[in-house]
Amino acid sequence: MSDHGPQRLYLFPLSYTDVPLPTGGTMSMVNGCYLIVTGSGQHILIDSGWPPEQPIPAGMPPRQQEHSLLSHLATIGLTPGGITTVICSHFDIDHVGTHDLFPHAEFIVQRKQLEVANNGHPRFASGNAHWGNPALRYRVVEGDTVLMLGIHLIETSGHAPGHQSVLVELPQAGPVLLAIDAVMMERQFTTDRRAWSMDDNEEQLRASTQKLLDLVERHGVRLVVFGHDGAQWQQLTTAPAYYG
Ligand SMILES: [Zn+2]
Repeated sequence: MSDHGPQRLYLFPLSYTDVPLPTGGTMSMVNGCYLIVTGSGQHILIDSGWPPEQPIPAGMPPRQQEHSLLSHLATIGLTPGGITTVICSHFDIDHVGTHDLFPHAEFIVQRKQLEVANNGHPRFASGNAHWGNPALRYRVVEGDTVLMLGIHLIETSGHAPGHQSVLVELPQAGPVLLAIDAVMMERQFTTDRRAWSMDDNEEQLRASTQKLLDLVERHGVRLVVFGHDGAQWQQLTTAPAYYG
């Protein structure tokens, strides 16, 4: 991998929640986002987490181990002005909550996601104040795209129209796949999975899961990070430590 490509990948856990299961017990879910630092000095954020002011929905357990995105950035010596690019996986409110902190960055989104949201799909209305801030500059991509050397955007509709996952090629860790909400939990990384209530289209969800399973084979991916898997994230290397 070139010296100019990705050198560091940070995982920023923003909070954990123990979600009660209908069958009893709980499932740990994380809300988080990611930062890539390149050899050419770019700081590329992927998603931006819940809005800090967002109240916890009725009946939901409290968030634990809360850290704001700003505090994660500060820990590694960055301010919002240092972020050059924001990759948007999709526009659900738990992924766009602080987009408006980065008006000088370029935002990268799949055309389908931006169109569906701009056309007023009710699902994306709650985050509109953040992703739809008129100060934000969007660059639209269409389907699988090499954003730059070592950063691949993988179109993975199904959870949301025009959802994208990200493959990051690192010097030591090798290719790392950020599935984000295409596969939220490790146990869903199978093609016979069922859609959850928040998923848009089960058929596309399964096709995207197959696509990511194939990509893991083809690229020799050693680490797949699942978007909301609290149990997995507790075992991963998180900021201020990083994958290099
Ligand atoms: Zn999500």
